[in-house]
Amino acid sequence: MSRPLRADIDLDALRHNYQLACDLAPRSRSLAVIKADAYGHGAVACAHALADLAPAFAVATIEEALALREGGITHPVVLLEGVFEAAEYTLAAQHDFWCAIHSEWQLAALEATELSVPLSCWIKFDSGMHRLGFTAPEAIEAKARLEASGKARDLHLMTHFATADSLTPDYFRQQLAAVQRLAESLELPLCLANSPATLACPEAHGAWNRPGIMLYGADPLEGANEASRRLKPVMTLSTAIIAVREIAIGEPVGYAGRFVAKRPTRIGVIACGYGDGYDRHAVDGTPVLVDGQETVLAGKVSMDMMTVDITGIPEAEVGSRVVLWGMGLDVNRVAASCDTISYTLLTGVLPRVPRFYH
Ligand code: PLP
Repeated sequence: MSRPLRADIDLDALRHNYQLACDLAPRSRSLAVIKADAYGHGAVACAHALADLAPAFAVATIEEALALREGGITHPVVLLEGVFEAAEYTLAAQHDFWCAIHSEWQLAALEATELSVPLSCWIKFDSGMHRLGFTAPEAIEAKARLEASGKARDLHLMTHFATADSLTPDYFRQQLAAVQRLAESLELPLCLANSPATLACPEAHGAWNRPGIMLYGADPLEGANEASRRLKPVMTLSTAIIAVREIAIGEPVGYAGRFVAKRPTRIGVIACGYGDGYDRHAVDGTPVLVDGQETVLAGKVSMDMMTVDITGIPEAEVGSRVVLWGMGLDVNRVAASCDTISYTLLTGVLPRVPRFYH
């Protein structure tokens, strides 16, 4: 028997979720955000699955964009952080990568670079995230300089929301108002909405939206919105029980003896650990499905194994299937038990875990 841990990637679900992003924003085009190896799902495979639906993709780095080209993807690719050094502009122009420009140094480097064809440039405005981007006066100057340089074409204005997933959206509205004010003077097409804004804030839909996490079926609004409840999980991380132990009252299980049996307890040892990317911060009580029935983690996550309480599932035995998240178990619930977010769990699945595409 080979190690049973696997990540099954449901490409129909990916397409369904992308289509939902499009249906919710009928006047926008949607960049499919497939950075960080499509949030751990495999960027080339996901791009191929979306190739006939998505007009363009978005990634963080030029290496990620080049990997898409090597994988046979010919669509335009937006570099969400732009270039990291001037030499990347030449490659970007050759490959039709569209570049965010967020800083004076990127602007100056573009002005100083000889290009065979002009680049599509996306001016990034800091509307309140205070991470990357120009102030409003700087963005106005950037537009003028890009137009004068002869190096840029198809200018866009983009910003990123800090709190679009919040249920108290005052700061989100402040950011939206700031970018809308700037857009009036710049008269550029807008690219604003991430997943939560795509799902729940039609007023933030621009010429382009940038949905990421929703494509993978993880709901950034955690059920608070009707549309997001239509998302389908794309990755199901599953494994099997590889050993069963009977634990007497008072006996500990696993490192540091964190879990101590309060009653005679049947423990299933399963093949998955932090060496596969499962979060080591998972507490006792983190949900798992064994043979389709929900039970909980009991004991600390080890590098290659975890222990789950199967006392209430007498039919569970060596070989029983265990779902860690995905179909039947919302990754957001697991993330909450690890004091993290779905993004880190999905992107954290390590190469040791084989992916199977359906
Ligand atoms: N746009 C930018 C600039 C981002 O950094 C991200 C994600 O980190 C996204 C869009 C997609 O956001 P989400 O995954 O929340 O939809």
